[in-house]
Amino acid sequence: MRYISTRGDAPVLSFDQVLLAGLAEDGGLYVPESWPQFTADDLRAMRGLTYPELAIRVMTPFIGDRIDPAEFAAIVHETYDDFGHPAVAPMVQLGPNFWLLELFHGPTLAFKDVAMQLLGRLFDHLLSKRGERITIVGATSGDTGAAAIEACRGRSAIEIFMLYPHERVSDVQRRQMTTVDAPNVHTIAVEGTFDDCQDLIKAMFNDTGLRNELKLSAVNSINWARVMAQIVYYFHAALALGAPDRKVNFAVPTGNFGNVYAGYAARAMGLPIDSFVVASNSNDILTRFFDSNDMSISGVEPTLSPSMDIQVSSNFERLLFDLLGRDGDAVKQAMAQFREKGTLPLDAAQWQTATELFTGYKVDDARTKQVIADIFAKTGVLLDPHSAVGVDAAAVRRPDGDDPLVALATAHPAKFPDAVESATGVRPELPARLADLHDRDEHMKILPNSLDALRDFVRETSELRGAA
Ligand SMILES: *Cc1c(COP(=O)(O)O)cnc(C)c1O
Repeated sequence: MRYISTRGDAPVLSFDQVLLAGLAEDGGLYVPESWPQFTADDLRAMRGLTYPELAIRVMTPFIGDRIDPAEFAAIVHETYDDFGHPAVAPMVQLGPNFWLLELFHGPTLAFKDVAMQLLGRLFDHLLSKRGERITIVGATSGDTGAAAIEACRGRSAIEIFMLYPHERVSDVQRRQMTTVDAPNVHTIAVEGTFDDCQDLIKAMFNDTGLRNELKLSAVNSINWARVMAQIVYYFHAALALGAPDRKVNFAVPTGNFGNVYAGYAARAMGLPIDSFVVASNSNDILTRFFDSNDMSISGVEPTLSPSMDIQVSSNFERLLFDLLGRDGDAVKQAMAQFREKGTLPLDAAQWQTATELFTGYKVDDARTKQVIADIFAKTGVLLDPHSAVGVDAAAVRRPDGDDPLVALATAHPAKFPDAVESATGVRPELPARLADLHDRDEHMKILPNSLDALRDFVRETSELRGAA
């Protein structure tokens, strides 16, 4: 499999190169040159496979010969054999033909673990083979940082520095980062906001000397391998519900469009998916786009579902590439206009094509709490605020007919206990393996909002570690 950039101006790469590169050098995102195809018979033969067996089947065409098949299989088994739930991604029924796909059983209780746990191992495997080491730096307002740290802890080819805004993340989120005791993990509390943290990271990448010296890298949501790993659970859910002999619909709580784009990819590979409901909180740029071809930026509003508090969905560019006929120049122009004017120019026919498959729906905080309370009263299931946004959008925008509809649950309720408790009166409990999270020792470095201080700390720590 070869990968091309959505902006058409970067080298064509193989899987291992795309994994390590992240963003393409023309500013675009890498996508497969063509979609691997599974026929109805191929799909029938996948029924009953365990999650890791299915994962190997679905992902192998994307990797080609760039990782030895036996080694890849071992990595996949190591990732998913012990993932917090024997089914990895179990489904719970909420109503007639209405299902919840629980993606939050991984180590940090959010769906990002499903991809990140594989990514950490793939990075480590490929770098070790090449005898290289990298330094991953990132800024987090919560979920992504914890998932990245868990994915990288103890991996010998990776050093990871994660910034978060001091005293501005939740207790659970902070402890999931600061209680990790691994010599290659460095959690930094910056005396500033999340935007300050992001600016510091950008400044580090812009410092070419530092970037080369430390081999800086990122594990952000645009990495192709994250999308690839997320494709698997769409197959897992659809096969369990009768695919390829029944069509399935999905509702996805969306921020950067990475999760729902993985579903789009599954469909392109032959999985019979009829439609996607793209669920947003009050940050509703995608809902406005699918409703009325209005993709215009407004300010970010904090909500009960912070991992969806996003205005510009970076993975949308991958869908845009297809909507514009896989024309890299057209994508480049559209993105330039989006950056300059804050609106995306799509003509009526292109927008129409998107709406045949996707509908958007916005759920505000008041309604989110109401849904958490209603679902708990009717089914006994506790939803976190992100999952509740998806469930409500699914219920409202459910297509006609009796094809199954699956809402993706992206975080464990215990990750957002205050919102869940205020909606239901029940305080959700952490799973047993995290029950002592609040008693574990915390390790973090508190730094002022200063690039010099950060650079010195990263450099000194890396030198000490390199000498060790
Ligand atoms: C990241 C995240 C999302 C949004 O996923 P995207 O791939 O960015 O659309 C939704 N819910 C939770 C809990 C998340 O952590």
